Amino acid sequence: SIKVMSKPLRWLVPALVVLLLAASPFLRVEMSAGGIEAMPIDPTLPYDDENIFAKILLGEIPSNKVYEDEWAFAFEDINPQAEIHTLVIPKGRYVSWDDFSTKASAEEIAGFVRAVGEVARAKGLVEPGYRLLANIGAHGGQEVPHLHVHIFGGRPLGPMILRR
Ligand code: AMP
Repeated sequence: SIKVMSKPLRWLVPALVVLLLAASPFLRVEMSAGGIEAMPIDPTLPYDDENIFAKILLGEIPSNKVYEDEWAFAFEDINPQAEIHTLVIPKGRYVSWDDFSTKASAEEIAGFVRAVGEVARAKGLVEPGYRLLANIGAHGGQEVPHLHVHIFGGRPLGPMILRR
């Protein structure tokens, strides 16, 4: 038979695969037909102060900020799905839309909703139109456990959701 790998290397690839699979719950990734994907969060868990958007709010992780006021912070999505893909998050500690809509004060809700509209206006999206999206939990595919509204725009956005 053809010798493709030397003896020690033959074990390296399966060992790395086993290691990756064993570590996947801790890396928050999962294997699927499409490859490795981020795992949806559980929106019923308490707020995690270590989540990536909490760190962005604190300035511990850099972001491409586009707007900030007393109630909200907006920044460009790191992996844009449209010509314009901006995220707006409330400054309060809310895991999801469910958490926010039950626990936030009327002032926080009004401030956040107005900020989303303000960012879309500032980006010139009103006349051409745009789309808002908030993913909640597993079926929504929510990956970050701090409420965020996606603003998509810059071109016709196609069908509302993936059809199977
Ligand atoms: P969702 O699936 O609704 O939870 O969306 C999470 C979004 O956050 C995805 O579109 C990611 O591309 C985006 N994202 C993750 N980390 C960062 C980051 N550090 N800066 C900007 N966007 C991020």
